[in-house]
Order: sequence, then structure tokens, then C-alpha cells
Amino acid sequence: MKAARVHENDKIVIEDVPLPKLGEKDVLIKVYRVGICGTDVGVVHGYVPAKFPVTLGHEFSGTIAGLGSPLLGGFKEGDLVSAAGGWGCGECKFCRNGMVRFCKDRNSLGRTVDGCFAEFVRMDYRAVFKLPPNVVSDEGQNFLNIACVVRAFKKAPLQLGNRAVVFGTGNMGLIMLQILKITGASEAAAVDTIDFRLEMAKKFGANHVVNAITEDPVKLIPQWFPGGADVVVEATGNTSSFKKACAVIKPGGALINIGMYSKKLMEFDLSFLYEKEAIIYGSKGGEEGYEEAVELLAQKRLQITPMITHRFPLEETPKGFETFQDKTQNALRIIIEPSS
Ligand SMILES: [Zn+2]
Ligand SMILES: [Zn+2]
Repeated sequence: MKAARVHENDKIVIEDVPLPKLGEKDVLIKVYRVGICGTDVGVVHGYVPAKFPVTLGHEFSGTIAGLGSPLLGGFKEGDLVSAAGGWGCGECKFCRNGMVRFCKDRNSLGRTVDGCFAEFVRMDYRAVFKLPPNVVSDEGQNFLNIACVVRAFKKAPLQLGNRAVVFGTGNMGLIMLQILKITGASEAAAVDTIDFRLEMAKKFGANHVVNAITEDPVKLIPQWFPGGADVVVEATGNTSSFKKACAVIKPGGALINIGMYSKKLMEFDLSFLYEKEAIIYGSKGGEEGYEEAVELLAQKRLQITPMITHRFPLEETPKGFETFQDKTQNALRIIIEPSS
């Protein structure tokens, strides 16, 4: 089968590899749609740890093509599925206490085990989720991100009528914006540096948008939301954005962090933690959000397909990654289609 793989930093190669062999707890999935994520880009360029050589990718939809043992997980051939980004060792104290995300021996798709930028992917059946019959592969590819946003969202004490701000209106930020609006934020503001994304944010319910290159969100947001925002979401992974996000939290408000940072934060005034009794929540992965993600997809509560801006066949995966990193391309969700 064909797979998009990394043997050395900064280079993706398309190569033929053998079909994965299944252990008794494994399923084989025929991959239809894969989304490019910032983590995949980090693996290619070496700032996200990975074991090379590896097949990239962890966000996908596909159909069951084989089972390691009969009736495994209740799956049958042809079921449309998506999956968690990996699975734990099953033995450590984190795995045994429902905190697989902290497992030191976690099998991370596209990092420590072969991922889904391939015609087929092998996974432990416990990390695989069946999607309802009214969900299509274009929607299912974003399952993991929806679960991650649900997990993060559940940490925030959002009340009806609250005001929220999302810093970073990429794929995750736009899912969060939609969830904030459908769960009762009376007003939401979106901050980004790309106008195209801010236009999308307006379509998805943002009442106010600000381009942080030309205007200062720290000045504008308190004009829209006097005293600041009840809930602030940091989804950029950029440390200067994190500083600004902290500056617009209302006294007694909270910040939820879903960004991954590769740079250090220097000279940061922490007095707001005392002055505002601000709470900062970190959130990692989609655990405890998977069931709700299935429900949200089934209920068609989120606009997922309209976020897809580019599609490439598997052979053009390197071009997809170039497009992801080219900020002039007006890219949002870039999809690779190993099968159509
Ligand atoms: Zn991802
Ligand atoms: Zn473990």
C-alpha cells in the first residue's frame, strides 16, 4: 500500500509499504479522509518528538477493512469510523485510571506508530469509534478535534449569557467558537492574523472579529465586553497571543488553553492571577470527549465540511503540507484523500 512517510526531518516521501499485520486486538481501516494538523507539521520539522521512519497522520475517517479477531468491538467490515490519536499501554497507573493521555508508553498515531496518511491504518480497536449512519467521511475526519474541543470546553465554567473570546481561528478554534455559541455564549469575539479565517469566524457566529496584526485585541475586547471576557480560549500556540489572552480575562473568569507551544514565554506579568482570581486550564487530547463528538456529528450541530478549503490525493501529501504552512493560501482544513 502507499503511505506518506518521514525518514528524516523536513522531507515527506510517498512509498510502498506492506499492509499492516493485525494482532488479535487490532482493526484494519481503509482510510478515506485525513486532515493535516500542526502536530504533523511538527513531526516533519522535528519539534514534535517522533520515532522515524514513521507514516504521518492522526486525524482521519475510514471504513473497517479487517478485524484481528471475530466480532472485535462489535465492528463489521464497511463501518465508517474515526479514532482517538493513539492508545495507551493498558498497564500503567494512568491507563488504569482513565488517563491514557499521560501514558509514557502511549502509541501515538503518526509519531510512535504508523499513522493514517496511507491507504490503510492499523489501530487497537479500543481507540476506534463507529460513526452514525448519517455522518459522511468529510465530517468524520474531524472527529478527534471535536473530541479535543469538547474535553477543553467542559473545563470552562461557561454560563448562559457569558461572553467568550477565541484566540486563533484555525480548525480547532472554529470548532470551539461553534460549540461556545451553541452552548449559550451570548456574544463571542474571534482573534486571528488572517482575514480569511476571521471571515469564516463571522460565518460561524463570531459577533466581533479582530486582526491582531492591524488592531490590538487587548484594547478592543474590553470595549465590546466591559470588564473582559468570561471565557477566553487560546488556540494559537503562540506565546504572545497567550499573553494577550490572559489580559482580556474578566475578574473571576477563565482561560482554556488548547494551543501547543514550541517557544518559551519571556517576561510575563503574573499579577492578574491574584488580581483577577483568573483560572487557567490546560487541556490535552480528546479523552472524555469522544462520545459527545459522535453525538455532535450525528446531530449535525457543527459546520465541519464548510471548513475544508483544499483537497489532495495521497501522492500530493507534500504539496498539502506546503499549503498548510503557506499563510497566503487561505487554507483552513486541508484534506488528503487516500481513497475516494
Ligand atoms: Zn492533531
Ligand atoms: Zn499506560
